[in-house]
Amino acid sequence: MKKILQDLSFEELENLILSLGEKKFRAEQLHKGLTLGKKISQINISPALRSKLLEEYEDEPIKIIKTFRSSDGTEKYLFALADGNVIEGVLMKYKYGNTQCVSTQVGCRMGCKFCASTLGGLVRNLTSGEILSQILTVNALHGGTAEKRAVTNVVLMGSGEPLDNYDNVLKFLKNVSAQNGINVSARNISLSTCGLVPKIYDLANENIPLNLTISLHQISDEARARTMPVAKKYSIEEILKACAYYFEKTGRRYIFEYSLIAGENCGKEHAEGLIKLLKGKPCHVNLIRLNEVKERGLTTVTEKEAYRFLGLLEKGGLSATLRRQIGADIGGACGQLRISYLSE
Ligand code: SAH
Repeated sequence: MKKILQDLSFEELENLILSLGEKKFRAEQLHKGLTLGKKISQINISPALRSKLLEEYEDEPIKIIKTFRSSDGTEKYLFALADGNVIEGVLMKYKYGNTQCVSTQVGCRMGCKFCASTLGGLVRNLTSGEILSQILTVNALHGGTAEKRAVTNVVLMGSGEPLDNYDNVLKFLKNVSAQNGINVSARNISLSTCGLVPKIYDLANENIPLNLTISLHQISDEARARTMPVAKKYSIEEILKACAYYFEKTGRRYIFEYSLIAGENCGKEHAEGLIKLLKGKPCHVNLIRLNEVKERGLTTVTEKEAYRFLGLLEKGGLSATLRRQIGADIGGACGQLRISYLSE
């Protein structure tokens, strides 16, 4: 595979252009074109520079090969990478703007029992430019520019564990929020992790004001370990300590994801357990009804049961919401599209 130009920060791009004997302003032209989601071959630069770049760099690091549209406006995309791997992404439309869900790895090695992304294990990490290109491509598809973005918010909740691909994700966070680029501010970005504790500390030390989201899904380490192998390595107590540190460093409250699985984690005792764990902490709980993945054999709860659980949390003094299920008719859950594509 060739290298990926979108991996470079603006400064790195400038250095590359200078090292190729070109004038500095060429870097700006190129960077502008890339930010608009263009292929190298579509950007208005000299033919000599273009062919020099194309010798070493991918013309189009990712491209959309399939689009699925839900009746609620949600769009899901299958992207092909330059090496033939496929990943998926989602664009969700809200009143305040459009949120894109991006993948950070091809597959995943965390092994959560309810998740489709991890079914075939980890294939490889995405580079920062491959993560960024998902956004540049979808922004362009919807007529967005850097000044008037079609993608206003980003969640790192597609396939992969972002903190298991830390360096590339960190570089992505810096490049996507660079003011002379697509400029999605960190405040509009959510990073979701299954709880890789040492990396939460590393991220806190970067002091990036993003929204940190933790996939909790259970109230005890034993129960959590039944569906999330990572729980054998890091306890809920360690996660809560890391979150407290994150808050201390960034001043940002953190969010817990809690996917409701019938018969597993949504009884009265679970609500009580959550309240005991989280009451008084600067956090929010996001409930979501499990998206059933047929290979996984777990079932979701009814909407009524989900609201009952939400009510218990609220009564207990927690800040919580039930996320509406969107795009379920087009394979809403992480990794579902890729899996069905691979088994076609
Ligand atoms: N690896 C990261 C990002 C994964 S996806 C993490 O674990 O947080 C984002 C969220 O969707 C996570 O909270 C994940 O646990 C949850 N999730 C995965 N599969 C799901 C499913 N089938 N139904 C509901 N939520 C699911």
